Amino acid sequence: MPIQICDTCGTSYPETSAPPSRCLICEDERQFVPRGGQVWTTPEKLASGHVNGWRQLEAGLLEIHTHPQFGIGQRALLLRTPQGNILWDCISLLDDATEALVRGLGGLHAIAISHPHYYTRMQDWARSFDCPVHLHAADAEWIMRSDPAIRHWRGDALEIAQGVTLLRLGGHFPGGTVLHWADGAEGRGAILSGDILQVAADVSRVSFLWSYPNMMPLSAATVRRIADTLVPWKFDRIYGAFPGRQVMTDGAQTLERSAARYIELLQNNQS
Ligand SMILES: [Zn+2]
Ligand SMILES: [Zn+2]
Repeated sequence: MPIQICDTCGTSYPETSAPPSRCLICEDERQFVPRGGQVWTTPEKLASGHVNGWRQLEAGLLEIHTHPQFGIGQRALLLRTPQGNILWDCISLLDDATEALVRGLGGLHAIAISHPHYYTRMQDWARSFDCPVHLHAADAEWIMRSDPAIRHWRGDALEIAQGVTLLRLGGHFPGGTVLHWADGAEGRGAILSGDILQVAADVSRVSFLWSYPNMMPLSAATVRRIADTLVPWKFDRIYGAFPGRQVMTDGAQTLERSAARYIELLQNNQS
């Protein structure tokens, strides 16, 4: 029996002969059930109609993105470090070509994921490359396939390789995490942000929402706390969840300016 994959969000569910009746991730107000009802696929069907494309974003950082777009449409990022490769965020398509290419690059040292929308098929990636998956414990209720590779971390920071630190910012999800890469941007530092800081259409801005598809904001206090949490961390670039969405310079100033404007809009009365 195959595992079942939600077509709308890419989350995988345990092996069953028939698809589940519901996707709990999509029924949450931070996602949505499509008007025609939930649609399901399997790893085999997904691989027959999709491929993964690769792009180098800078030395040591590769993007993996599924074509045609699948689920939410996020990219996974493969970060190369002296201690091994780290997969940041995850995607539903793990086909033979992807497995061979990642193996050729040295496999994976660890997987880390920003929040439950990108858990997808982390269990299968972890099994293929025999590595742990680091997830913040605050979002444990959203794991749809338990797996021995999953390691729950607690608190606000966890270094998973030298100069690679997970930072819990919360916001979009209580355990919402970004990854700080000290050697990124030629040593000026980079943040891999998932949906936790959302790089906007104007790539000199980031935004912050509770629900992206349903356009529900976060509070001013939460946005202030998110921005303040990153003040001690040096970074020049911010790599968001989607292809093309990266702030290439002045990342820290971009975050502060964006947060200040967001809070100003929430707090001002406008007619
Ligand atoms: Zn779903
Ligand atoms: Zn999300």
